Amino acid sequence: EKKLCLSIVVLGASGDLASKKTYPALQFLFRNGFLPHNVSIIGYARSPLTDHQLRDKLRPRLSGGEEERDAFLKHCTYVQGDYVGSQGWQGLEGVLSGREGKYHGCPCGRLYYLALPPSVYPQVCSGLKTYCDALPKTEGSWLRVIVEKPFGRDLSSSEELAEVLGQLYPESQLYRIDHYLGKEMAQNLFVMRFANMFLSPVWNRNCISNVQITFKEDFGTQGRGGYFDTFGIIRDVIQNHLTQLLAFVAMEKPLSIHPDDIRDEKVKVLRCIQPVQEHHVVLGQYTAADGQPGYTDDPTVPSGSKTPTFAAVTLFVDNDRWSGVPFVLKAGKALNDRKAEIRVQLRPTPHFVFGGNPERMRNELVVRLQPDEAIYLKMIVKRPGLETGDCAISELDLDYGKRYPGVVIPDAYPRLILDAIRGDQQHFVRRDELRAAWAIFTPLLHAVDEGRLPVHPYPYGSRGPPEADELLARAGFVQNLDYKWPHKA
Ligand code: NAP
Ligand code: NAP
Repeated sequence: EKKLCLSIVVLGASGDLASKKTYPALQFLFRNGFLPHNVSIIGYARSPLTDHQLRDKLRPRLSGGEEERDAFLKHCTYVQGDYVGSQGWQGLEGVLSGREGKYHGCPCGRLYYLALPPSVYPQVCSGLKTYCDALPKTEGSWLRVIVEKPFGRDLSSSEELAEVLGQLYPESQLYRIDHYLGKEMAQNLFVMRFANMFLSPVWNRNCISNVQITFKEDFGTQGRGGYFDTFGIIRDVIQNHLTQLLAFVAMEKPLSIHPDDIRDEKVKVLRCIQPVQEHHVVLGQYTAADGQPGYTDDPTVPSGSKTPTFAAVTLFVDNDRWSGVPFVLKAGKALNDRKAEIRVQLRPTPHFVFGGNPERMRNELVVRLQPDEAIYLKMIVKRPGLETGDCAISELDLDYGKRYPGVVIPDAYPRLILDAIRGDQQHFVRRDELRAAWAIFTPLLHAVDEGRLPVHPYPYGSRGPPEADELLARAGFVQNLDYKWPHKA
């Protein structure tokens, strides 16, 4: 097989995402042998940087010893240029085709990674399309573009952006990152759901009472709230990451594992969800407590901001499988805990002939995405010992750290970049999927932006506003108060 001439261009290489995520992910792939030895990683941005300056900036973000870092950095160069006009782009094309010319007859791959604010996507993509599209015609050559959220602010702005990009590149060349799709447990959800006979018959409205998909952070904006304030927690986490997880929980089994078969099913289930109703929403904003600042104490946040830092939203999937089952998507900053998890609570067991209240003895399947990947099923067992007829809630517990010691679970970014290099779009968001997700949240977002919904204060470090627990109770969630986890750290 002929060698691939792979060039990765990081647009916006001078920025935060590039040094925090993109380059470290590329180094991870490089170190583990997933990038060809001849790979070229070209940074592009307006900032005047030399190759050396870029490398010095990146070095502290990389892992391993000096030699390992340098082995990777040797492949990293920088091209300075503007996002408008032709000069910069022609310079970049010169570098790319100069390199590709040396690989006569080999397939060439160009990966354009846009680590840039979305406001410049249209001009950058148009520049790339016009000036940097001279891919050799060798069989097996490809050109792909990775873009990062936010993809718009609502349905119409997202569609507008999608339209502009769609005029330049076909869907098959566009890779929209939602990094939750790169998480081990998100990918596992798909396998778990469709490979286990014991789950299939209970995975529906007959047996499942309610589903919670939760994201909690135990810190606030830490003086960087300016960006967040223009988006709020619904756009930041719920409309994208948690909704993607919901799609995996609720979708039907696809025809095959072909990326488009999977994405067809995700779109289908998202389109079964009606736009959120205002009485199914609780918003919150954290306030100062225990010496920790409140959200509006952040100097980068406009004073009096009503932007929600917490939201709980109940959705319903109107199809045969899920009709009437509440899916509560809950996310917040400055809470008591840091975690992302999916909690599927089953209905109480009918005709419960044992001691105890069956309402409070629910089977619950929990998939924890972070920290420390785990899957556990709360299960009712005989209370061990000589008592008769008594039962207790215990668990079947799959703790990834214990079950797979020494297995490195890679971060989402390396996985997704590798998928893009391999041309696998399964874990990237397709345009119609994005449209369906925005359609669910757009009316709500407009109401929030217009300040039409109450925003409940909650103290820094708490579980969020108590109104959210009321919403959960209305959704049928019952806390398993009798469940005790013995290994609390
Ligand atoms: P950034 O640091 O603000 O911007 C990246 C680079 O883009 C800058 O170094 C700058 O390079 C250029 N740039 C910035 N503002 C510009 C403007 N108005 N016009 C033209 N060029 C501009 O952004 P980032 O944090 O790296 O984020 C990049 C993308 O990733 C965004 O879509 C962001 O939402 C997304 N994202 C970021 C993170 C994160 O952790 N930072 C996480 C998830 C998603 P030059 O001035 O040198 O050209
Ligand atoms: P939990 O942290 O006790 O929470 C259970 C559910 O009850 C969550 O939805 C939680 O909401 C909610 N809740 C908590 N306090 C509430 C309140 N006052 N009112 C209403 N709802 C409330 O989780 P758990 O699954 O029962 O597990 C208990 C402990 O065991 C956890 O620390 C868990 O990590 C640990 N455990 C670990 C493993 C493992 O690592 N392999 C296995 C089993 C159990 P919020 O999410 O919003 O707080």
